Amino acid sequence: MHNLKTHESGITKIGAGMVEALASSLKGSVLAEGDAGFDEARTIWNACIDRKPGLIVRCLTAGDVAHAVRFARDHGLLVAVRGGGHNIAGNAVCDGGLMIDLSQMKSVRVDAAAKRAVVQPGATLADVDRETQAVGLVVPTGINSTTGIAGLTLGGGFGWITRKYGLTIDNLTAAEVVTADGEMVRASETENPDLFWALRGGGGNFGVVTSFEFKLHKMGPEVLAGLVVHPFADAEAVLKQYREVVAGAPDELTCWVVMRQAPPLPFLPGEWHGKEVLILAMCYCGDLQAGEKATAALRSIGKPIADVVGPNPFAGWQQAFDPLLTPGARNYWKSHDLTQLPDAAIGVLLSAIRSLPGPECEVFIGHVGGAADRVATDATAFPQRNAHFVMNVHTRWREAGDDQAFIKWARSLFDAMKPHAAGTAYVNFMPEDEGGRVEAAYGGNYRRLASIKKRYDPQNLFRLNQNVKPAA
Ligand SMILES: Cc1cc2nc3c(=O)[nH]c(=O)nc-3n(C[C@H](O)[C@H](O)[C@H](O)COP(=O)(O)OP(=O)(O)OC[C@H]3O[C@@H](n4cnc5c(N)ncnc54)[C@H](O)[C@@H]3O)c2cc1C
Repeated sequence: MHNLKTHESGITKIGAGMVEALASSLKGSVLAEGDAGFDEARTIWNACIDRKPGLIVRCLTAGDVAHAVRFARDHGLLVAVRGGGHNIAGNAVCDGGLMIDLSQMKSVRVDAAAKRAVVQPGATLADVDRETQAVGLVVPTGINSTTGIAGLTLGGGFGWITRKYGLTIDNLTAAEVVTADGEMVRASETENPDLFWALRGGGGNFGVVTSFEFKLHKMGPEVLAGLVVHPFADAEAVLKQYREVVAGAPDELTCWVVMRQAPPLPFLPGEWHGKEVLILAMCYCGDLQAGEKATAALRSIGKPIADVVGPNPFAGWQQAFDPLLTPGARNYWKSHDLTQLPDAAIGVLLSAIRSLPGPECEVFIGHVGGAADRVATDATAFPQRNAHFVMNVHTRWREAGDDQAFIKWARSLFDAMKPHAAGTAYVNFMPEDEGGRVEAAYGGNYRRLASIKKRYDPQNLFRLNQNVKPAA
């Protein structure tokens, strides 16, 4: 007998025979507490999340996913879906219930002639970059290569080349999905177009995606990329000039701002390690010489401590921040979409950085816009096309006893920035306590999402996510 305790419906007892029948129907395997691999499968990027599913189905095929979904539905189990396991909210894993673990489904197949890739949902961004860049092609994704392609895509997806090639979802041409009734369907502009619309930004609300199909672009393998590091004393002047320069930036140029205590980077003089700095992290994804010209205005701001911008293999640049974002730390995020960076917002950011609660905490301002903004707001579920900046307050620490202090700091910066924010939010940056913000996050697209949810998942089987409730 397996006790599949769900926090919503008390204890559900399921006979061992039923679990064995499920296991024998799979190419993959079923894990319960005590089995080898159980702890590895339930451990995700954010160490604040420590949950124990009743069962984990380690899927290897779309058929395995269909069996797992039907089993959960038939037994009334809470369902969690794990792709790369990176999401801050920790919804990839549940206490009790059934976790559908896709992390072993990692294949990336590239058709170079057709400039297409078919990607399974356990692939990381590094898996995707490796295969696409091997033939000089690329799909725009995020800035940390260990992130899962699945969750990133379903929430939208932006990074170094989004301004040139759009959000990740703008490059999604089709998806294969196991819906809440256990059926396998295809979604594209011509097949189940409503579902395809919802998948592009609507998160894991509409089914389990077993395959993503992307169009690819010719790019690289080298881009002009790197960091310019400024003393924090100059941050106000640097941010004001940054704001002017990026307002006229070509689509090829993306520059994020990172404010934090300097990590012990080898190119930074030792006296700066541990001191507050402002980092301009930039990437120009076109011709290298054109990149030198396009980055000149950003690189001539102020008197930087270091400038390490130069030609880099794109797949390597995609991993540049990985050492600062390793799994195993405790993390809490708060995020706002910003359409601009007014002086008052800059003032709020600066005073928060002067009181950073720990050496691994940072605030970054992601730079979006460009091609991503030339897609209509209602063309996909992703709502905030004109938010050219996405601020993320990333608190990161090691000891559980420090949780409240770090979370309090993040919330208070978030509150202070609210008057300057667009009102929408990137669902992929929302922590687990922001369920009440989902409707506002999707803005004008929420209502259509709710009606598509009603059609594809009326019982809200897929509710462990930034949840869209089925329309009444
Ligand atoms: C260090 C770090 C850096 C990041 N940088 C960026 C960035 O630059 N740009 C950006 O856009 N985002 C970024 N993100 C956010 C990232 O996009 C989200 O965390 C995303 O949800 C991660 O996807 P995952 O598959 O790894 O996560 P998981 O935690 O496995 O999945 C997240 C959720 O997505 C759903 N889901 C996952 N797979 C499927 C599937 N196959 N079918 C249906 N639903 C599914 C589930 O609801 C799940 O709870 C970053 C995150 C981290 C931790």
